[in-house]
Amino acid sequence: MSKKTLPIATICAWMPRIDPTPDYQRPPAWSRKQKQLLIDSILREYDIPKMYWRSVDRDDGVKYEVIDGQQRLRTIWEFRDGKYALPRDTDPIQGIECSGKKYDDLDMDISTVFDSYAVDVVIIDDAIQTDEEDEVRDMFLRLQNGTTLKAQEKRNAMPGQMRNFAREIAAHPFFENCKFNNSRFTFDHVASQMICIEIAGGPTSVRDSDLNRMYRSNTAFDANGKHGKKVRRVLDYLLRAFPEKTPELERYNAISLYCLASTLLEGYVHLGTENHLASWFIDFETSRRANDHLDEEERDASLIEYKRMTSYSTDAEESIRGRLEFLEKLFFSKFPDIEPRDTIRTFTPEQRLAIFRRGGGVCQIVTHCDGGKLSWGEWHADHITPHTKGGKTVVSNGQIACPACNLSKGSG
Ligand SMILES: [Zn+2]
Repeated sequence: MSKKTLPIATICAWMPRIDPTPDYQRPPAWSRKQKQLLIDSILREYDIPKMYWRSVDRDDGVKYEVIDGQQRLRTIWEFRDGKYALPRDTDPIQGIECSGKKYDDLDMDISTVFDSYAVDVVIIDDAIQTDEEDEVRDMFLRLQNGTTLKAQEKRNAMPGQMRNFAREIAAHPFFENCKFNNSRFTFDHVASQMICIEIAGGPTSVRDSDLNRMYRSNTAFDANGKHGKKVRRVLDYLLRAFPEKTPELERYNAISLYCLASTLLEGYVHLGTENHLASWFIDFETSRRANDHLDEEERDASLIEYKRMTSYSTDAEESIRGRLEFLEKLFFSKFPDIEPRDTIRTFTPEQRLAIFRRGGGVCQIVTHCDGGKLSWGEWHADHITPHTKGGKTVVSNGQIACPACNLSKGSG
């Protein structure tokens, strides 16, 4: 960690080396008025807060990521580029008229004050130890604009593969169809909770402390491993189910539906279920909201309990598990024909014999052979409807395949 005092002229010259928006930064938000106030402070040589930059080694040399000071930096660059002027009601500076002036119109004495104004910059070396870095970053992020950063903004500042994966998942179009928006990284937050649930294999506590622990202990997370792929599959499924903006998709509902979809994709024949999921869920939400408007004694007690689980401690394991169990019970009652995926995928010897006799001992696929007689040792029992698509391991779903046709069909 080192401290530099850089004149604004240098900060402007270094623009190509400075990345003001590393992905943990909040989006630009300063108004014109706030910008003018900063420039006014600089021209009157008042102090402005320190900036915090992180130095990173890139292929094309050392670059700086701005940890704190993005707004100030942009404001300075934009003023230097003539993007805006000082306000019309600006009082003279050092007795010199400056009102309504852009940088290029300033008196030389005043533009020199601007160019030579010294900004304190604390530069953090990217190579420092992770633990130490965590602390340093946390401390600096707290300083940002005097506001307390939300937990997800801090997590977005934690380097590592989990941070990167959560950012990727947060960009999934499903989130755009939810009721909540992405202010202060809500998509990242909900995405992290889904990842946490997926890694746990089901409902688990997804409070900030749990998510922080997940980010810290998964810095080498493999985005293309089992869990990474599954999270993408579940969100793709949910997007097919909810292809449009759906006001019922509150945060807690997005989490509940994630759990339900994850269960379906894992253990059930889920093909086509996405077509039913959305209309069933919207009907459910409509009726449970109607329940709230009934007189107290007429209300459905189980819906009151369900509502409690959507109102308090929604990030706790008990709440998530309770909501999931409630929804699963309703979903599977509504769609009783959804079958568990068969756990047996190999035909028994008895079934094989039955299939062989039934098929007359010849290949029944005949895409890569001439359909000639096969000997007992050289054929495969093939699922007509593939096992992966829910085809059962029953004789009626079996057929004879010669090695060539079986191979061309892929795993059945
Ligand atoms: Zn064949």
